[in-house]
Amino acid sequence: AAKAAGRDGYQVFDPARHADVLAEAEQRAALERALLEEQFVVHYQPIVDLPARELIGFEALVRWNHPEAGLVGPLTFIPLAEATGLIVPLGRWVLDQACRQLAAWTAEYPEAARLRMSVNLSPRQFQHSGLVAEVAGIIERTGVPAGKLVLEITESLLMKDTEATVRTLEALKALGVRLAVDDFGTGYSSLSYLKRFPVDILKIDRSFVDGITADSGDATLAEAVVQLGRTLRLQTVAEGIETADQWSTLRELGCEYGQGYLFARPVAADEIMPLIRSRPTGLADPITE
Ligand code: C2E
Ligand code: MG
Ligand code: MG
Ligand code: MG
Repeated sequence: AAKAAGRDGYQVFDPARHADVLAEAEQRAALERALLEEQFVVHYQPIVDLPARELIGFEALVRWNHPEAGLVGPLTFIPLAEATGLIVPLGRWVLDQACRQLAAWTAEYPEAARLRMSVNLSPRQFQHSGLVAEVAGIIERTGVPAGKLVLEITESLLMKDTEATVRTLEALKALGVRLAVDDFGTGYSSLSYLKRFPVDILKIDRSFVDGITADSGDATLAEAVVQLGRTLRLQTVAEGIETADQWSTLRELGCEYGQGYLFARPVAADEIMPLIRSRPTGLADPITE
């Protein structure tokens, strides 16, 4: 029957594709196991106030501490987690972990009370009906003030301007959390959604920051996003700042906040402590160029 090439609903047997499916099933099983065995870890990347270079908070970024491969980045497993739905429990775990971490830092260091925690939400997580209750539960259990939690959502999600999207965004806002549009400018931008949806923060995608000093086109785009943020009274966060030139250009454009290797890479929780403790933060030290 399998020889009927696609006829009558039968699939052609394709050994290469069969191998792909097997590999995917194996990967999925490995991800499930990883979640059960707590092989995931959350790293934290400092977000700084650009003029002062002072720590204002963190973005929580998940990694897989793979028993054989070592530390694996999210771009290799988030798409599969998203496709299989495993992102829902994984994302919940990350959110819980990040909030607990912020609560622990705050308990230990009063200075940490001013810091915020930013957590990525995938489209599938966003569409999951239990999301709002889960966020509410995590805030309550960990004692993190809702206003200190930022949820990063993608532009593509906002493009689906459905009743359900609006309802979820408003329910999250009603909890008191802040909403950021991640990788802003990479989607099919329709600016009108920014007015309709209750977002607070625009994150300027790294691709615009990359060429900001060399390529005037990118500088113009970054500037436009900063202006847009100002007009709509949204905060702007630039991601992927790697050089002092990019930093000063963004400062001149009036971008308030940023993150990038220039300031700090994403690091494990225990490496963050010294940054919080130093007064002003270790990040506030002048850079030697
Ligand atoms: P994102 O949310 O846009 O996160 C920023 C990414 O840029 C991170 O990559 C970060 O390590 C990287 N980055 C920051 N500064 C620099 C820099 O100066 N130079 C360069 N080259 N890169 C920089 P990462 O950790 O590999 O994460 C990639 C993406 O995976 C994230 O992009 C986010 O979309 C997704 N992701 C990570 N953690 C989670 C999670 O817990 N849940 C979900 N749904 N997605 C996540
Ligand atoms: Mg993000
Ligand atoms: Mg981003
Ligand atoms: Mg990005």
